[in-house]
Amino acid sequence: MENKKEFRTWLDNHKLEHPIVIAGPCSAETEDQVLRIAHDLKDSDVTYLRAGIWKPRTRPGNFEGVGAIGLKWLQKAKAETGLLTATEVANRAHVELALEHDIDLLWIGARSTVSPFIVQEIADALEGTDKVVLVKNPVNPDLALWIGAVERFHTANIKNLGVIHRGFSTYEKSKYRNIPEWQIAVDFQTRFPDIPLICDPSHITGKRDMIFEVSQTALDLNYDGLMIETHYDPDNAWSDAAQQVTPETLLQIFQDLRIRKEQD
Ligand code: PEP
Ligand code: MN
Repeated sequence: MENKKEFRTWLDNHKLEHPIVIAGPCSAETEDQVLRIAHDLKDSDVTYLRAGIWKPRTRPGNFEGVGAIGLKWLQKAKAETGLLTATEVANRAHVELALEHDIDLLWIGARSTVSPFIVQEIADALEGTDKVVLVKNPVNPDLALWIGAVERFHTANIKNLGVIHRGFSTYEKSKYRNIPEWQIAVDFQTRFPDIPLICDPSHITGKRDMIFEVSQTALDLNYDGLMIETHYDPDNAWSDAAQQVTPETLLQIFQDLRIRKEQD
């Protein structure tokens, strides 16, 4: 699997300067919310509008996503703004619905990457697709498990593959929600230099005031992009309220970041 140039295709096709930016709310909440955020982001560095519609919540009893109706909101957002669309899929039914609605980028959540059965089910459902498929690291710090998931997608002939580093669970007290363990992602990058590596500072930090510093570290380590949860009213978001930034803050973050590839 090493050094396959085709893995960069989806990034190269955008003909954009690095980093690629995926932004949008943790969860789609209402049609108006999705459209408003899309319009707020359309004239920015953002290429993909993200919104989770099936939400893997750690404990039951919380908002678990709006479900398939959210795919129509994403389609409408794309038609109105030109932003490409991105959502999480966690089983075959999700994949089939997302493909029917022509979602451009599908990501595999950290709780799914830990399960070879579910990864295989998703890979089989996506067999041969030219959609972008991004595999988040598993919740536990296990590089082999992350690589194994990527290998299952590669074997399913998915060329536009990438990975997302979103940090790892720990029982230790930490300033992070999920400790970054940068070395694991760097080891992934060293072994697979042609598979685009995206950082998700939102789930690493869990706090909006740490998004900038973690994003900068990722760019300094030559990551290919960032996925940043963005909401016009973060405090009242239906999930992950503490870590979402406003579209204005997102713009500011991009103004302040030193983007190494541009400086080289
Ligand atoms: C998310 O992106 O909103 C999400 C649920 O992420 P993770 O799988 O990294 O926890
Ligand atoms: Mn989230």
